Amino acid sequence: MPKRTGPDRLADWDHKYLWHPFTQMQEWEQEAPLIIERGKGSYLIDAEGDRYLDGTSSIWVNLHGHRHPTLDRAIKNQLGRIAHSTFLGLSNPPAIQLARELIRIAPKGLRRVFYSDNGSTAVEVALKMAVQYWQQRHPDVGPKTSFLHLKQAYHGDTIGAVSVGNIELFHGRFKPLLFPTVEADPPYCYRCPLKLTYPDCGTACVDPLEQLLKRHHRDLAGLIIEPLVQAAAGMITSPPGYLKRVRELCTKYHVLLIADEVATGFGRTGKMFACQHEGVTPDLMCISKGLTGGYMPLAATLTTEDIYKAFLGRYEDFKTFFHGHSYTGNPLGCAVALANLEVFRKEQTLTKLRPKIAALTRLLRPLARLDHVGEIRQRGFMVGIELVRDCATKAAYPLAARMGHRVAMEARGRGLLLRPIGNVLVLMPPLSVTLNELQRMVSIIRQSIVSTHDSL
Ligand SMILES: *Cc1c(COP(=O)(O)O)cnc(C)c1O
Repeated sequence: MPKRTGPDRLADWDHKYLWHPFTQMQEWEQEAPLIIERGKGSYLIDAEGDRYLDGTSSIWVNLHGHRHPTLDRAIKNQLGRIAHSTFLGLSNPPAIQLARELIRIAPKGLRRVFYSDNGSTAVEVALKMAVQYWQQRHPDVGPKTSFLHLKQAYHGDTIGAVSVGNIELFHGRFKPLLFPTVEADPPYCYRCPLKLTYPDCGTACVDPLEQLLKRHHRDLAGLIIEPLVQAAAGMITSPPGYLKRVRELCTKYHVLLIADEVATGFGRTGKMFACQHEGVTPDLMCISKGLTGGYMPLAATLTTEDIYKAFLGRYEDFKTFFHGHSYTGNPLGCAVALANLEVFRKEQTLTKLRPKIAALTRLLRPLARLDHVGEIRQRGFMVGIELVRDCATKAAYPLAARMGHRVAMEARGRGLLLRPIGNVLVLMPPLSVTLNELQRMVSIIRQSIVSTHDSL
């Protein structure tokens, strides 16, 4: 074992050798980096032994807490057999068993599992499958190669995923690289594009979507959506019934529905998958973040037997799906994903989550009355707190004011780690969080909002 390197040394090396994601490195280099060495339950512990509540579930991946014995053991056991073998032309036990388990819990009608490594690749796979499906299953309908998606959607950072995304700050400069798509307004009730109010609106935001489908369906291979919550857009929650209507419209206009459950999957919204709140089965479903309980990079694209069958034929028909990654079906990842599902069953994670979701709603309610809290959006254990300059006019803070970031730095000083999206504070606790920890998280957020604004 090499001697443990001290925190100061590590900080120097971090500044000297690393480039962090979504990070202005000029600023990063000026600050001492927070170096996480260990974790336990809902806590992250830094090199100096300071403990922080993991308010983002390590960016939306962790479910049962850090160092969960069942998950730890699953990886150790698998490591005693083999770490990795290829999935191209070979198979392995954990990948096989996991596929069976995933089909058991997935929305009814999804029957096949295609593995990859992360949310973005799961989306790339779905997009390519959709395009190739129409070519092989319905060659008569002409080229269906385009996609419909919502504005402010986020489906990952690879170029295909960016093409169907629309977050100007992240994506704008890459426009020349992106394939053309059709975009619809999102169901953002707080700033309704139609200037209507739910429920009197009758979910009228579906009508423009139908108009777009009517106009473009001949070109559209699919419609991709983050079901129930547009997470990276700032936890924009859709009104009840919206997703079900989208499903009906996709069926009516012969457009495949791709549900990106990368953020919403594995209990985040209160059910195993967000689609299950509205009895929706998508044609393709992308999962990743919570799939391994936050332990290993693994993803999957689930689909129906109809889509799978469109790729069958003799070798020389070349209907094969020519796509794969070096680490597809990685046994360590699949083993810990199996353990993740075992914990869901044994600890009755979803049942125990219900009262915690209700408690979180109760705890958050008083925060809505704070100055500068415009709206609190909650769907299960996904929470967005939108900070505004003026609650009456809903006037936004300029992005450069970095209000979310300032509040998050206050929270860090009080022992809670957050990662805001612009002016939206995001709270995504591990599903295993205790009521006490939940209380502490919300109380720190409250203090941090108040003290940030007092210091302005
Ligand atoms: C995080 C996320 C992705 C991208 O996943 P990565 O593993 O970061 O590539 C895709 N879609 C949604 C909805 C996400 O939240």
